[in-house]
Amino acid sequence: MDKGVNVVLVEQQPDLGGHADTYTDLTTGQDVNVGVQIFHDNSVVRGFAARLGASMAPPPPDGATLSIDLTTGKAQLDPEADPGIPAALGTYINILNASYPFLNKGFFLPDPVPEDLFLPFGDFAKKHDIVPLVFLLNRFTQGWDIIRVPTLYVFMIINLDLVSDIAAGTFLTTNDTNVLYRSALAILGERVLLNAHVTSVLRSNLGVRVHVKQEDTTSKVIKAKTLLMTGSPVLDNLQGWDLVPEEKTLFSKFSGFGYFAGVVSNPGFPDNTGFHNVASNNSGFHTPKLPAVFVINNTPLPDKVRTVYYGTPQGIHIDKSNAARMALDDLDRLVASQGYGHAKTKLLDWVAHGPFNIQVSAEDIKNGFYARLYALQGQRSTFWSGSTWTAQDSATIWGYTKNVVLPLIRP
Ligand SMILES: Cc1cc2nc3c(=O)[nH]c(=O)nc-3n(C[C@H](O)[C@H](O)[C@H](O)COP(=O)(O)OP(=O)(O)OC[C@H]3O[C@@H](n4cnc5c(N)ncnc54)[C@H](O)[C@@H]3O)c2cc1C
Repeated sequence: MDKGVNVVLVEQQPDLGGHADTYTDLTTGQDVNVGVQIFHDNSVVRGFAARLGASMAPPPPDGATLSIDLTTGKAQLDPEADPGIPAALGTYINILNASYPFLNKGFFLPDPVPEDLFLPFGDFAKKHDIVPLVFLLNRFTQGWDIIRVPTLYVFMIINLDLVSDIAAGTFLTTNDTNVLYRSALAILGERVLLNAHVTSVLRSNLGVRVHVKQEDTTSKVIKAKTLLMTGSPVLDNLQGWDLVPEEKTLFSKFSGFGYFAGVVSNPGFPDNTGFHNVASNNSGFHTPKLPAVFVINNTPLPDKVRTVYYGTPQGIHIDKSNAARMALDDLDRLVASQGYGHAKTKLLDWVAHGPFNIQVSAEDIKNGFYARLYALQGQRSTFWSGSTWTAQDSATIWGYTKNVVLPLIRP
């Protein structure tokens, strides 16, 4: 729109922002982020926030964090206090700088794909002597099993830009990340169709025709020169599309993890305290085995309100209410094991984010999957962006859209 192009944005939800969810305390009106929490401190984020009139600042201090193995209730050493971390961070940064700086832009992989990129990340960490770093990196990635995923995916999320922020402790945030998307909605105005469901997509090299049905309205037909799809390119999310065999073949290979975020309260939680779920024995990595709570974050809200993040295994569907029940069981076990009282944990909000961290197998990476995927850009007037094309990271997605995708699109 800023380039003078006429746009229509189709969103299936009643608001914009996707994984950025905010919980508002009913009594105080205070907001906390339940989904997206923090952004890189870089020019893409600063530029985007400035365009949307949102002010960003470094995150406030978190309060105390206890390390507990939620399967046993036993206190653990804090893996993020491991004295090996600074050296491991240095090694990780050196490897990215020396061998993979191109990954900052996207899945631009050399041919042949270097073997390290499709090694399980746990094996890569052992090979390069960076095991103490894995738990810390997983706090920034979550929603998967970091020691088993191909190393490529860890590099894509924890790229040079993000790892520099982790090393320096520099991030940007606001207590309500939805401020960005409410502002975008106000700027775009009637160009946004909310609660809008795509019923068919017909594409050719001359343009596209998209049928959309909004609740309580008749269908609309959008005729456009170009289509930019930023929702997940999984087959379930592309029903009604005129997919060609290459798209069907590639998209059918994707598989994601389950990832849920919630808001809970329990009068027994200690004041100003959060928890890391630290596995006492997971081959020395300390990351929890899925399904598991990753972290329980302190919030500034009254009544011992905490945010909680819960991951489930790749390719296994666990529905929203079962995941909530399993997470609440873990929290109640934590409260009981720590002697925090007998009150049951109350669920105030629960959001399903799966399929999350969508990826393909090591074999597919090796066989040039991403070169074939990126070759789809521009085919039949269709362009693609979003986490599956880059990483589960806002700044990386905005950077890919701005620097790689938009220059490909002729106004
Ligand atoms: C709990 C949680 C915490 C996170 N924390 C951070 C963080 O702190 N920092 C960070 O940078 N990243 C974080 N992430 C990663 C986050 O996923 C990305 O940063 C970013 O929000 C992903 O953007 P996206 O556009 O790919 O997907 P989404 O945010 O899911 O946005 C896609 C949008 O497209 C819509 N859509 C999809 N398909 C269709 C369709 N067929 N028709 C119409 N509309 C459709 C969806 O409704 C949604 O609004 C977090 C993710 C989660 C789940």
